[in-house]
Amino acid sequence: MILDYLFPIRCAICKDYTTQEGVCPDCFNQLDIHAIDVKVGDMSGISAMLYHHDVAKRMILNFKHGDQPHLAKILSRFLYQVGQRILKDMDVIIPVPLHPLRLLKRHYNQAGLLAKQVSKLSGKPLLDCVKRVKHTRMQGKDKKDERFFNVKDAFAMKKHTDLTFKKCVLIDDVVTSGATLLAMSHVLSQTKVQRITFLTLATAM
Ligand SMILES: [Zn+2]
Repeated sequence: MILDYLFPIRCAICKDYTTQEGVCPDCFNQLDIHAIDVKVGDMSGISAMLYHHDVAKRMILNFKHGDQPHLAKILSRFLYQVGQRILKDMDVIIPVPLHPLRLLKRHYNQAGLLAKQVSKLSGKPLLDCVKRVKHTRMQGKDKKDERFFNVKDAFAMKKHTDLTFKKCVLIDDVVTSGATLLAMSHVLSQTKVQRITFLTLATAM
């Protein structure tokens, strides 16, 4: 059918053809996206409550595990929508990195793709300044204490990064135990960073 050729993407909700990535403008406007304040250790951030919407949750899981990097475009619009009020005060956007071995397997860093889009939408620079130095297990089935042990010392700063007096917003897809964000903020706080906050699509805490 010619429409399939012209508009190869169908809306994840109404299944209508759409030129948008993932969800058509009508359905996007109908999704009622709430934000909640989340605290991880001493650090507070914002999460879009996307796990409360079946369709949105499926989109996140497809984005994360289903090899659908194009969903970054629509999902980052949700992130931007709930994060605008903190983004305007921030200096740089920093994605949670993947270990190179996992990147090899997944082909893309989902947090990196989100951060790139949020950077475009907000006009704030993207700074991919943290690297993963330890290949940690997938955290899905771990108990909470194990998770914190698992990601401890997992991150390091890349060389030649100057974060002096910078206000940083970390971007990840889902905050689960908070261990990952906390371990990353620990590394960042050893620089002269001024403030660290975070923005995620959903919380499974
Ligand atoms: Zn639709």
